[in-house]
Amino acid sequence: MLEAIIVLFVSFLIAITILISPILVKKARKRLQRRSFPRLWNFIIDDHLPIYSYLSPGERKRLQGHIQVFLAEKQFIGCAGLHLTEEMKLLIAANACLLLLNERGQYFPRLRSILIYPTAYIVKQTTVTGNHIVEESLVARLGESWTTDQLILSWEQVKQDTCNWGNGHNVVLHEFAHQLDQEDGQAEGVPILRRKSDYSTWSKVMTAEYKQLCEDVQKGVDTVLDRYGVTNPAEFFAVATETFFEKPQELIKKRPALYRLLQGYYRLDPKRWVQQSSKSTLS
Ligand SMILES: [Zn+2]
Repeated sequence: MLEAIIVLFVSFLIAITILISPILVKKARKRLQRRSFPRLWNFIIDDHLPIYSYLSPGERKRLQGHIQVFLAEKQFIGCAGLHLTEEMKLLIAANACLLLLNERGQYFPRLRSILIYPTAYIVKQTTVTGNHIVEESLVARLGESWTTDQLILSWEQVKQDTCNWGNGHNVVLHEFAHQLDQEDGQAEGVPILRRKSDYSTWSKVMTAEYKQLCEDVQKGVDTVLDRYGVTNPAEFFAVATETFFEKPQELIKKRPALYRLLQGYYRLDPKRWVQQSSKSTLS
C-alpha cells in the first residue's frame, strides 16, 4: 500500500513538473528580455551589423531581448584554440535572432551548443559511389547544423558575412535556417508552420521555386538565389532565407511568390530596412 502511495506521489510530482516547466521557462525568458541591454553590446552590434541601425525602434528592442535569451540559453565553445570573445557571441546571436524577430517564441529548441572554429575547418566526408564503394575525402567547411544539438561555424566567415551585408551570403542565417527546418527532427526544407493549411501552400510554392532554380542553373541563367540551393530542398530553404534577409528587393522582383511565402513565415519585410538604408544614404 505504502509503495503504491509513493509511486502515485512521484508520478504526481513528475506531472506537475512537466506542466509548470514551460510556464517557468516563459517567465525566465520574459525576465531576460526585459533586462537592460548593455551599451557596449549595442555599440558592438551597431558597429558590425549594417542592417541593425535600419530596424525600427520596436524591432531593435525585440532583437535585443531575443539576444539576451539566446546568450543565456546557448553554450558557446571555441575550437582549435579559438579564444571566445563577447563580440563573437554577440554577432552570432544578433544574426541568428533576426530569424526570430517576429517569430513564435521558440529559441532553436534542439540546439544546445555552438562550436566556433577560427577559420574554415576540415572534416572527413564519406561518400558511397555507384559501385557501393565507400570513399573518404577531406573537405573544408564554413558551417554546419546538426539535427542533434550542435551547430558549427567558422568565425572568419561569420565576421566577413556580417560586415558584407547585402551580398546574399550569411553563414549564420544559413545554418540557423537549417535549425528551424530541423526543429521537427527532419531536414527536408519544411519548418514547423503555424496552421495545417500552410503546409500545402508551402509545398506548392517551394517545389515550384526549387524546380525553377534547378532549371536556371542547368541553363546557366544568372539567378538571385545562390546555385548551392539546388543541392536539395533543405539547402534551398537555407539559401532562400539568406537571400530574403540580404537581398530582399531583388528577391521580391525576381521571385515574388517566394518572397511573400518567407515574409509570411518570418512575419518580416526586410525590403523595408533596405529602403530605409537607401533613404539615409541619400539624405
Ligand atoms: Zn546548408
